[in-house]
Amino acid sequence: MINFNMTKIVATLGPASSSKEMITKLYHSGVTMFRINSSHGDVDIHSRNLSYIRELEKEEKTIIPVLLDLQGPKIRIGCLDNPIELKKGEILKFKHQSELKDGIIPVDYKGIASDVHPGEMILIDDGKIQFEVISIENDVISAKALTDGLLKQRKGINIPGSTGSIDVLTERDLKFVKFACENDIDYLGLSFVREAEDVVMLKNILKSNNYNHIKIISKIEKPQAVENIDAIIDVSDGIMVARGDLGIEISTEKVPIVQKTIIRKANIKRKVVIVATQMLESMIENPIPTRAETSDVANAILDGTDAIMLSGETAAGAYPVESVAMMKKIADTVEASPFMRKNKFPWKMIEDVKDNQAMAIGMSIADMAKKMDIKAVVALTASGFTAKFLSEGRLSVPIYACCPERSICRNIKLYRGVFPIEIHFEGKFDKASLQKIDSFLIQNLNLIKNDTVIFTGSVPELLLGGTNFIKIHKIGSAD
Ligand code: ATP
Ligand code: MG
Ligand code: MG
Repeated sequence: MINFNMTKIVATLGPASSSKEMITKLYHSGVTMFRINSSHGDVDIHSRNLSYIRELEKEEKTIIPVLLDLQGPKIRIGCLDNPIELKKGEILKFKHQSELKDGIIPVDYKGIASDVHPGEMILIDDGKIQFEVISIENDVISAKALTDGLLKQRKGINIPGSTGSIDVLTERDLKFVKFACENDIDYLGLSFVREAEDVVMLKNILKSNNYNHIKIISKIEKPQAVENIDAIIDVSDGIMVARGDLGIEISTEKVPIVQKTIIRKANIKRKVVIVATQMLESMIENPIPTRAETSDVANAILDGTDAIMLSGETAAGAYPVESVAMMKKIADTVEASPFMRKNKFPWKMIEDVKDNQAMAIGMSIADMAKKMDIKAVVALTASGFTAKFLSEGRLSVPIYACCPERSICRNIKLYRGVFPIEIHFEGKFDKASLQKIDSFLIQNLNLIKNDTVIFTGSVPELLLGGTNFIKIHKIGSAD
């Protein structure tokens, strides 16, 4: 049976989840897409995890997209053998070097000592640990801890107010872009995007290597990205509300409104959107989340996000499987509630709808789904367009998208409510193709004979034309 949830769940892999067994368990608990974070781990671990995912995809006869997150110009703490316990008020030294030496904490960015000034803040681990810079001498920064805490290796460093002059794609990132091209990765996450040109640059690299089927998710975590959001959405395939760095860069109280604004804009432009970071953060250590976290996950779904993401919870937490299961439970409950904006298209707000016919068909299907007892919409789609379009209707029933192309199946899988079925058709939409789809639905999904479904796509030539038909069909009947 195909793993089934309307709101999609993204799980980050890390030390807590790097085995075939864990990846399988996470998948069965509700994961739609796995995220590999190039900031952590090494290429061997990433390759191994990727091969586990591809094996699982085959075994389950399903579609599992993979996102490779590029670190971008993120400054990080270097290697520490053991975490360092910090006491408020204590003075520590930082320097650009690879590992802890003479009690000086390593930072992986050469320019760190010239980028900070006395009185400025150094924020570590999404802002959980804070230092104030006291002085800089011979490339060594002395800074006062403003909080107690545990400093762990490879944690991110933010210097609020610094403009970030490093290129959006570092040399390290380019190596991972190559890795993505050579290893059947579906999505690249582009960190610290500032403007549309950053995205276009990566797109051009992919294009010139003939890998334009790899989709780009722009991570919105800089104030400049929030300012340029419309242009960035236009050139991206998807958007991630990357709340970790965003919360530091624009300040935490602004995150909820920015989240709602970005989701709405991405929905209107039919670009997939993911809400990320600290969704169930306390589950890194506890088997149940806080009520505030539960509400946060629910509200992101009600805002209209396609996907919700787990980071440290599945990468390095004590309860990875429980975190996914909890996310799924919250999502299923919200999806079933009257608050879910069922059958509501944001199309009214779209001024530049070019394809009026598809829009009319989509709206009619949404209307029919409200008035009739249907179990699913079955969309025959070559480009994925029909599926993406229907997804925006936030229908209360699943959209089974029959598509012959695997890379498109992996892409549309991330859209809310869409379940791709990789299926090859020959020629016309006739009895034989109807029977083929019917038997697939009965065997693989929870549909039974005489269930009513709505078909849409193009006739007479399957998949070739624009969306031009709606057909009400009873599973198992001849027409
Ligand atoms: P980003 O800004 O890209 O989100 P991050 O450092 O916040 O980077 P996450 O992917 O959000 O990383 O993961 C959360 C935490 O899980 C990390 O801070 C890290 O401590 C831990 N972790 C350890 N190893 C890994 C790994 N191989 N992959 C991902 N996370 C890891
Ligand atoms: Mg993070
Ligand atoms: Mg980030």
